[in-house]
Amino acid sequence: MIKSTAGKPEWDFNRCAVIVAHPDDEALWAGGTILAHPESDWMIVSLCRGGDPDRRPRFFQVLKALKASGKMADLDDGPRQIPLPEEEVDRTILSLLPQKRFDLILTHSFEGEYIRHRRHEETGRAVVRLWEKGPLQMRELWMFAYEDDSHTQLPHSIVNAHHFYELPPSLWKQKHDLIVRTYGFTEDSWEARTTPKTEAFWRFSDPARVRRHFAERNKSHESPGSV
Ligand SMILES: [Zn+2]
Repeated sequence: MIKSTAGKPEWDFNRCAVIVAHPDDEALWAGGTILAHPESDWMIVSLCRGGDPDRRPRFFQVLKALKASGKMADLDDGPRQIPLPEEEVDRTILSLLPQKRFDLILTHSFEGEYIRHRRHEETGRAVVRLWEKGPLQMRELWMFAYEDDSHTQLPHSIVNAHHFYELPPSLWKQKHDLIVRTYGFTEDSWEARTTPKTEAFWRFSDPARVRRHFAERNKSHESPGSV
């Protein structure tokens, strides 16, 4: 397990992609990590809200601040969160990425970051599926590691995540500005209050390990007696 809590974490990734469900997920869960590494080539894609006249231009302004390129799709994001066909999510991700081979991909975990937005979980699962099947290649996959304790707290980094980045205050402020100034969330919004000061990730170099990891977490959640 590698924990980096001070200064910049070790970093040898050039081609990086961030694959998220919504515009704002990239800033909330990984904005500090992206801002800390302007030397890398960042491609950020959002699967939903490409047709949202408010969020779309804000997303591209955020990409500019993050010195990233990116694209958006417009998958259904209705309040009922009807499950999307796996093939549709897979196809959408591949259509958004101009290249399919990366040093690092950041995305949602199988568990999402809070209870509950299905699109987050679907996005993480699709990335792992595409990695297993072959069309998407990466040296490492980092999945957002946050939880909200069944909605009793704001999402915060999971204590036993594989990788932590404690943001220097100036970097956190830049990220917070993206949320309140660029995305326009008010200071007392859930988003602004959540904006994590420590970013946390599950870190994998093999898709089979991802499946094992979440299956084990699932098991330990179901039987609290066994750790
Ligand atoms: Zn989201």
